Order: sequence, then structure tokens, then C-alpha cells
Amino acid sequence: MEIDPTRMCELLLGLPEVDVVGVDDPGPGHLVVIVSPREERPSCSRCGTSAWVKDHREVDLVDLPAFDQTVTLRVIRTRWRCPKFRCGVGSWTLEHREIAPAGHRLTTRAGRWVCVQVGRYARSVAEVADALGCDWHTVNDAVVAYGEALLDADEDRIGVVRALSVDETLFLREGPWRRQRWSTQFVDARGGQLLEVVEGRDSAAPAAWLAERDPLWLARIQWAVLDLSGPYRALFDTMLPDAEQVADPFHVVKHANAKLDECRRRVQTETLGHRGRKNDPLYRCRRLMLAAHERLDHRGEAKLAGLLRAGDPHGEVAYAWHAKEAVRFLYDIPNAEFAGRYLDELSVDLQDDEFPPEVRALGRTLTRWRDQIVAWHRARATNGPAEAINNLVKRVKRGAFGFRRFRHYRIRSLLYAGRPNWELLKTITPH
Ligand SMILES: [Zn+2]
Repeated sequence: MEIDPTRMCELLLGLPEVDVVGVDDPGPGHLVVIVSPREERPSCSRCGTSAWVKDHREVDLVDLPAFDQTVTLRVIRTRWRCPKFRCGVGSWTLEHREIAPAGHRLTTRAGRWVCVQVGRYARSVAEVADALGCDWHTVNDAVVAYGEALLDADEDRIGVVRALSVDETLFLREGPWRRQRWSTQFVDARGGQLLEVVEGRDSAAPAAWLAERDPLWLARIQWAVLDLSGPYRALFDTMLPDAEQVADPFHVVKHANAKLDECRRRVQTETLGHRGRKNDPLYRCRRLMLAAHERLDHRGEAKLAGLLRAGDPHGEVAYAWHAKEAVRFLYDIPNAEFAGRYLDELSVDLQDDEFPPEVRALGRTLTRWRDQIVAWHRARATNGPAEAINNLVKRVKRGAFGFRRFRHYRIRSLLYAGRPNWELLKTITPH
């Protein structure tokens, strides 16, 4: 049996409602498939008269690769016009959204495919553009358009959340001074799902997002997890007054480490008159000091003790190190009541006059955040999932060479870590 080559091409192409008119082979590795959409003669939208053909135009679309070749789908589009001269309706074309939405340069199926490759699997835009034989912007625009349409359509993406965490993330350094631009991400701290990303790390945009949520959804949030940031505390005080605030342990320990580092740098400058250099004892022990104590072996501990003796004449850095370890110990206490008592004593002790200023400041912070810190022992909800999501998002950022636009950053982050329903994408075409 002989098969008509254009008919075969139609079958392979798998596009509904098109006739393959021809195939062109302009060079190695590239194929042009010329198609004509099947159209019923339309009627004029104003007067209802059966339309006439005005002319035909060819539109080239980037399609999925076939047989190891990049493919251009050349669509012959019919321009229609009203036969009545007085009607005044201009010419028009019919849209075939299963072929491609109007104004898009990728076919619909190629658009969905790039959205999955880049959005879901975090392949780089450049790599995917190379596979399709088109430019970076064509792919990036499609990922954003299809991704945004998917996220808009996926109304069930966010379910019940018991522990909501907010966290700041840097999304861009821009300009000659590498100015930092920040965003705030909302994460389901139990399920580890990225819920939303908004611009800024003050409380304005996060408050606006929470204000748009269903009151019933908000009412189910039992725990509000945060780092030691004043704006986020104000955000939860105002927007989630009934949720109990929980200070994330990761950030509490990070703060104690920051104070230790501050103390080391000050003592360094005071004793040696300059900032840390690679042979200074205190500079050499900075990483040992930041490490968790139980992770130091005997050699590490002996080295740390020796370096501290050499570079810390008044024992200030040693105090700060012990303070950091004491804060870490808090999280080994299994019981909220004991943890509360321990923290109360610790924060008073650390504010004693004999301690260096950095340690006293740490003590004051612990007092100010006392209830939030102790709440963790009941909630056991941490920003751990948020940190994990930060790592995911970093992967997205590396692939994208930094996002210039917040909108792109938001969509890519949500596609990768926000768990959209990818099944829905099969039915989605953007506008
Ligand atoms: Zn008309």
C-alpha cells in the first residue's frame, strides 16, 4: 500500500484540524512543515454575512523537534473580510489555540513542553532554546506565559496550612553597586511547599497577600514561623493575631553565631590593630568556632583552645563561643516547660556586666523573642522546609543567571517549588 507522504506527515505531526500542504528541507538538521488549518467559512461579526477570503499569510512557529531535527511549523493563515463594503469591519483571522495562541512564536505544544522542561525540571532556558533551535527570549517568554496561566488556573494548589512560615530571599543584585533586591516567600512549614513569593522584605507586600486570603484559610493557621525579624513579627501581629509565633531555630542559632563572629572581629582589631589576616590566631579559628561543638573532634577542640589562648587575652571570644553553644543546647531540651526555664536563666546570665557587649546583646535578643523561641518546643515547626526551598530556588537562579524581573523570578520559583498540578497544563493556553 502506498501512503501519501503528506498524509503520513499529518499522522506524525498529530495536530488536529490541519492539512499538511508540504514539507521543506532548507538544510541539514532543520525541517519546515507547511500546514493549513481547516476552517469553516466564518460570518462577519457585525452584519452576519458569510465572509470572503481576503488573502493568505504565512506565519512561522517554532515546534517540537522531530527525527533529531528542529522544526518550523509554517502556518498558512487565511485573512477573511466582509463582502459588504459599507460594513466597515476590517479583515480578521481565526485563532487556533491548539496550534498556537495569537502573537506567540512557539506552537502550543512546544510552549507547554518548554514550560515543563524549564519550570518543572529546572533545565536552563539556553539549553532548551538550543534543543528547539530558537532564541533564549522566545523560550523564556513562553515559560513565563504558560507558567503564569497554569498558576492562575490551579486554584487548588494551596491547601490547608497549619504552620505558615515567612522567610526573606535575595532574588537579584543589580546595577554597578550590586544593589540587593529582596523578596519574601511563604512556605507551608509542615508540607514544604512554596506557597507564594512577594516583593520586598518589609511587611507591606506580605500583608497585602495575606489580606487577599480566605478568612477560613487564615483561621486554620495555628503556627506562624519567622526568623528574628521585626517586620515579620509585626506582619503576624497584625494579620494573624490568633496564630502562635514560632522563632525558627536555624535563625536563632545563626544569630548567636553572628554575635560570636562580631565579637571575634572586635577583639581581633583591638589586640592586633587590624582586621583578620590568615595567620592571626582568632582568624584561624573562626570556622572551628562556628561549627557545632559535638562536630569538633579532639584535635579540633585542642586547636580551638590553643588559638583562643593566643588571640583572646580577656577570654571574650571564649565567652561568646560558650554563649552560642548554650543557645544550641536549648534545642536538645525535649520539654517546652524546661526549655522556657532554661532560656529565662540563660538570657539573664548573658546580660551580666562581666560579658562582652556582643554576648549581652544576644541575651537581650533572647529576652525579646522569648515566647517565640520557646514556642518551637510545642510547635516543632521550623523554617527547615523554607531553607530547603531556598536551596531549590537557588538552583533555579543559577540556571537563569539571575532574574532581572521579579515576575519571572516568582513564576519560576513557584513552578519549581510550589507544586502546581502539571496535569492541568495539558489544557492550558495563555492569552
Ligand atoms: Zn459585515
